[in-house]
Amino acid sequence: MRKPGSKERIKRFLLKNVGRVVTSHQIRDAAGRSVSEWARRVRELREDEGWPILTHNDSASLKPGEYLLERQPPQRTQVAFSRSISAKLRAQVLDRNGFTCQMCGLAAGDTDPVTGRKVRLHIGHIKDKSLGGKDELSNLRALCSTCNQGAKNITAEKPGRVWLLSQVRRASQDDQLAVFEWLRRKFGGT
Ligand SMILES: [Zn+2]
Repeated sequence: MRKPGSKERIKRFLLKNVGRVVTSHQIRDAAGRSVSEWARRVRELREDEGWPILTHNDSASLKPGEYLLERQPPQRTQVAFSRSISAKLRAQVLDRNGFTCQMCGLAAGDTDPVTGRKVRLHIGHIKDKSLGGKDELSNLRALCSTCNQGAKNITAEKPGRVWLLSQVRRASQDDQLAVFEWLRRKFGGT
């Protein structure tokens, strides 16, 4: 584990300046040691810990090199974030879902009876990304770790025989023959 250092200092500095615009110079000064790392630490706070830190990419009122911690950040242990979804979108999903797992109803910070640990909420896709589901509000929901893992297992379920046969039967004769050839080679039938 990394010893508390530049990140902890950056956290303290930003918490002292909630709602106030700060500059990259100020953050760098606050970070002290490992100066080259400050930008990465800020990104980790945004992406891994869900801190609502705005940059000029998020707000037209900010100039490049300016940062704004919009409000008090969430408790670290309560919400886990996927990197591909923006801080704003996560906040919208969690707010809409009332910080409640949409499968089992546990709330962030409750004790999960399955694991005995505090519930951490994840942002899950309703239609999985591998099936074309998008990173948008209507396709996202709050899930606790336990349900999120369950949901993953469901999407990873293997296609069954009936479904496979029905898809093969729908295909053109050429494609059916190609599948047959592929299976014959794979399994060595004659
Ligand atoms: Zn759940």
